[in-house]
Amino acid sequence: IICSCTLYQTLMDLSIRFRREMDKGLCRDTNPTAAIKMLPTFVRSTPDGTEQGEFLSLDLGGSNFRVLLVRVMADGEQKVEMESQIYAIPEHLMRGSGSELFDHIADCLSNFLEKMGIKDKKLPLGFTFSFPCQQTKLDESVLVSWTKGFKASGVEGQDVVSLLRKSIKKRGDFDIDIVAVVNDTVGTMMTCGYDDHHCEIGLIVGTGTNACYMEQMRNLELLDGDEGRMCVNTEWGAFGDDGALEDLRTDIDREIDAGSLNPGKQLFEKMISGMYMGELVRLILVRMAKEHLLFQGKTTAELLTTGSFNTKCIYAIENKEGLTSAEQVLRGLGLDPSVEDCIATQRVCQIVSTRAAHLCAATLAAVLRQVRDNKAAEKLRTTIGVDGSVYKNHPEFSRRLHKMVRRLVPDCDVRFLQSQDGSGKGAAMVTAVAYRLAAQHVE
Ligand code: BGC
Ligand code: MG
Repeated sequence: IICSCTLYQTLMDLSIRFRREMDKGLCRDTNPTAAIKMLPTFVRSTPDGTEQGEFLSLDLGGSNFRVLLVRVMADGEQKVEMESQIYAIPEHLMRGSGSELFDHIADCLSNFLEKMGIKDKKLPLGFTFSFPCQQTKLDESVLVSWTKGFKASGVEGQDVVSLLRKSIKKRGDFDIDIVAVVNDTVGTMMTCGYDDHHCEIGLIVGTGTNACYMEQMRNLELLDGDEGRMCVNTEWGAFGDDGALEDLRTDIDREIDAGSLNPGKQLFEKMISGMYMGELVRLILVRMAKEHLLFQGKTTAELLTTGSFNTKCIYAIENKEGLTSAEQVLRGLGLDPSVEDCIATQRVCQIVSTRAAHLCAATLAAVLRQVRDNKAAEKLRTTIGVDGSVYKNHPEFSRRLHKMVRRLVPDCDVRFLQSQDGSGKGAAMVTAVAYRLAAQHVE
């Protein structure tokens, strides 16, 4: 009990700390130096169900790159139909020259249009680009910095819409109308918002982690106008980049960061998301072996190889047949584990993934309190749209997250809605809403 009180206190403290960081990002004077950027998205309204039309979308920045064709039907029952295709992005393009990366994206788009037989149509397109971007309008989005596994040159500081238009124009075999760039959190919120009108928060726990929510314009000091709401992309993965998490970070967290593509950046994300979770476990196992606490003090070349312990292994090891999986995984790394080694490995996985769920709960609780206070509501009833490989595939992550969020904000009636293909479909939803609003202005 003492232990769980301390945990609660630590997370509550963290949550309050994050809420102050959100404030820093929202205020004009403190925004330039704030770690939490609170980026305006120019998405002002969630779907109302009357949207319709045929839209393309691109989804770049999660575990897969996808191209989608989305049909939104308003007549009678709300319905969304879609076709999609996954394309590979080879590592040399993720970390090579930006123009080659965008040429490749245009290439995949061309292939998709060909396959669907719609190359002659000039369809509106929404681009889910899951990286921090400074937007000035819906279709202008300047990349602040790459995160996760991307590091292509010549893109940071550039408008990704211009880069994509350039690559398409250069080919000359098709034309499209790029209407919106959206973060995956925003896409997820919009997809869930189509089915549940209470949805005003989007959460991703996948390769990376982040959240967005509908903020009052009057609190968004960076933009003129006090009326209505706008979705804000928090970019909470950067929490701690100014030193705010030093009391919670461990040696292992520092080691992960030092060996990453973006040292010193996205420190909160590196404690949580799928790109790093497996590696966190591996580094702990290595350290324990070296201290003779595991594997009779033995290590193997495989165990010592970066990336050899995939986050997917954690899902298997925390499953019902977890100990068998632990043995298989460890044997796959050339080890000869005892039962105690397997139990200890399972425990390490539990500790790392539970910490991740609890850290997310703390920041999510801060977002929930912000939304509640904005509405001056005694008890907030709201929905969080969620997507991401860790949230969807880890056997316990979602349950632990939900439980801790409810402890931290007992006065909120929160529902979690897992989105189906949220990030990609959402870009089409944003585009559809933009079309609906444009049509209303004409009328
Ligand atoms: C990016 C965010 C994104 C998140 C989840 C982070 O690395 O900075 O923009 O929403 O990953 O994909
Ligand atoms: Mg995604």
